[in-house]
Amino acid sequence: QAKSRGRGRFEFFDVALRERMQRRLRMEQDLRDAVHSGQLWPAYQPVVDLRTGEMVGVEALLRWTHPKHGAISPAEFIPLAEESELINVLGKYVLRDTTRELAALRNGRGLDLSLKVNLSVRQLDDPHLVPAVRDALATTGLPPGSLTLEVTESALMRDTSAAAEVLSALRSLGVLLAIDDFGTGYSSLAQLRRLTLDTLKIDRSFITGIADSRDAAAIVTSIIAMAHAVDLTVVAEGVETAEELALLRELGCDQAQGYHLGRPLAAAELFQ
Ligand code: C2E
Ligand code: MG
Ligand code: MG
Ligand code: MG
Repeated sequence: QAKSRGRGRFEFFDVALRERMQRRLRMEQDLRDAVHSGQLWPAYQPVVDLRTGEMVGVEALLRWTHPKHGAISPAEFIPLAEESELINVLGKYVLRDTTRELAALRNGRGLDLSLKVNLSVRQLDDPHLVPAVRDALATTGLPPGSLTLEVTESALMRDTSAAAEVLSALRSLGVLLAIDDFGTGYSSLAQLRRLTLDTLKIDRSFITGIADSRDAAAIVTSIIAMAHAVDLTVVAEGVETAEELALLRELGCDQAQGYHLGRPLAAAELFQ
C-alpha cells in the first residue's frame, strides 16, 4: 500500500514537473514569436540631472504584451531568453529599435537626450554584439557618446578576458558604459578602476529608506564618494519620494531615476 502511494506521489511530481517544463517551452516559443509580431516594445524611464532638475536621458526597459497572458515582466522573460541564443536576437532588436526611436526624438524635437540600454551578460559573449552596436549607431546617426550600455555588477565581475575585450571594443566605438545594480555584487575598488566605466548606478535596495535611516544614508554617501574618486557619474535607481530625492541631491549624487521622477512609458506617452 505504501509502495503504491509512493508511486502515486512520484507520478504527481512527474506531472507537475512536466507541466512546468511545457509551460517554459511554450513561453520560450511565444517569446520567439513575440520578437517578430510587435508584442515586444521598449518603455523609457526618465533619467534626471540632480543639479538642474532636467531630464538628461532615458533608460530603455523592454516590455512584453503577451496576447493571452497580458503584460509579462522582464524579470521573468529576460532570464528565459538568457537560457538560449534568444537573448542575442532580443538584444539586437532592442538596440535597433531604441536607437532609431531616440534619434528620431533628437532630430524631430531637438531633444538632447542620451539613451541607456541594458545588456545581458550573455550578449558580451556574442561576437555580433560590437558590429550590431556599430550598425545601430551608423544607421540612425545617434552620436556614440549619447549611448550608454548598462551591464549589471554581477555580470561585470565574471572577469573573463573575453568580456573585458568586448567592453573595450564597445568603448572604442565611443559609447559609454555603466555598472548597473551596484552594491548587489562583490566588486572591489581595484576591479572598478580596472574596468574603464563611465557611470555607476546605485541599486534601488540602497536608496529605499535612505531618508529614514542614517545607516542607509551613510552607505550611499560612501558609494558616491568612492565613485567620484574614480571619476564615475553616479545615478541613484528607484527614487520613490521627494525626501529621498532631496537627500540624494544634498549628498552630491549626479543623476536619479525612479517612480517619483517618472515611470517607464512608451515613447509616444513620455513625449506626447
Ligand atoms: P534595471 O536595468 O536595474 O532597471 C530598473 C528596474 O527598476 C526596472 O524594472 C524599472 O521599471 C524599475 N524601477 C524604476 N524606478 C523604480 C522605482 O521607483 N521603484 C521600483 N520599485 N522600481 C523602479 P523592469 O522594467 O521590470 O526591469 C527589470 C530588469 O530587467 C532591469 O533592471 C534589467 O536588468 C532587465 N531588463 C529590462 N529591459 C531589458 C533589456 O532590454 N535587455 C536586458 N538585457 N535586460 C533588460
Ligand atoms: Mg538598467
Ligand atoms: Mg538597476
Ligand atoms: Mg536590475
